[in-house]
Amino acid sequence: MKDSIIHLVRSNIKNLQPYQSARRIGGNGNIWLNANECPIPSLFTANITSFNRYPECQPKSLILSYANYVGLLNDQILVTRGADEGIELLIKAFCNPREDAIIYCPPTYDMYAINAKIANVEIKEIPTFKNTWQIDLENIQHNLNKVKLIYICNPNNPTGNIISKKDIIHLLKITLGFALVVIDEAYIEFSSKDSMVYFLKHYPNLIILRTLSKAFALAGIRCGFTLAHKEIINVLNKVISPYPISTIVTDIAVQSLSTDAIKIMRNRVLTLNLNRNWLINELKKISLVKKIYNSRANYILVKFHMFEKIFQHLWEKGIIVRNQHHKIYLKECLRISIGSYSECSRLIEEIKILSKI
Ligand SMILES: *Cc1c(COP(=O)(O)O)cnc(C)c1O
Repeated sequence: MKDSIIHLVRSNIKNLQPYQSARRIGGNGNIWLNANECPIPSLFTANITSFNRYPECQPKSLILSYANYVGLLNDQILVTRGADEGIELLIKAFCNPREDAIIYCPPTYDMYAINAKIANVEIKEIPTFKNTWQIDLENIQHNLNKVKLIYICNPNNPTGNIISKKDIIHLLKITLGFALVVIDEAYIEFSSKDSMVYFLKHYPNLIILRTLSKAFALAGIRCGFTLAHKEIINVLNKVISPYPISTIVTDIAVQSLSTDAIKIMRNRVLTLNLNRNWLINELKKISLVKKIYNSRANYILVKFHMFEKIFQHLWEKGIIVRNQHHKIYLKECLRISIGSYSECSRLIEEIKILSKI
């Protein structure tokens, strides 16, 4: 085609496989267990009614609310359009294209690698140990050449485990001064004692990513946070867009961080953790289940006999889970987000039906 513009596209983008988000994969269901969202909405009404003015770049009220929630100072916090924007901004600010590298440790969240690919930054894949899903420190240490950022997801998505605190601290020590360790704590509310926030005061190379999309049940507003030494926050403030957080988002996010709303969030976490334990117990009784990995988050990774048939059957019944079979070490695995009690029971019901066929 003469008028095609495809030849203008950067070569690394031309061949890019975009992130296969739950929304992109689609499905026709009424039970959505594929994006680790909260099954029950938290209801808010916007207070603001006029929108003719631009918002603040970094809304003070929101920074203050989050600083209060995590026990940090205002200058240690950046608000972003979801934690995903934090992942991207770090690469933008710290990695020279075709020169620097990032490390990430699959099986894990795909967006670290996708953002590096978009920015033309080398990706060093250092897989975790199979089944324990702990990071391979020795291998990381041998591959630090050119590395500026090391992304670690904790609790890890999709395996659900906690990464050893001792290992993270070791990593912070051996990289101090030449690389940054980014801990993605998107699910940390489900295992709050495992947060690394306390260590920010000891390690200037520690960065923590947070979000309101999971435990706070606000995936729709797209609001996340980067927590780090103020020197790093200042750098990120140089590369963030001028008005990243809309007025409405700030309005709702501030409400979600009130003392009462935080209490509700913590109760929600308790309920979901109970649902998770119930679901695990029920799955253990089913012969099609090969292995259930321990989880400290609002999803579980399960290895099945006939995983494809199960995935398809659930799909047809309107129960949408996430296939992980294509990922390293995750053959025959599905990731199931923890839903409401009735959603979990429906899931068990349908898997039981299949196990009798
Ligand atoms: C969901 C998720 C995110 C993205 O969070 P948003 O704030 O919705 O962008 C980041 N990291 C991990 C590991 C996630 O699972």
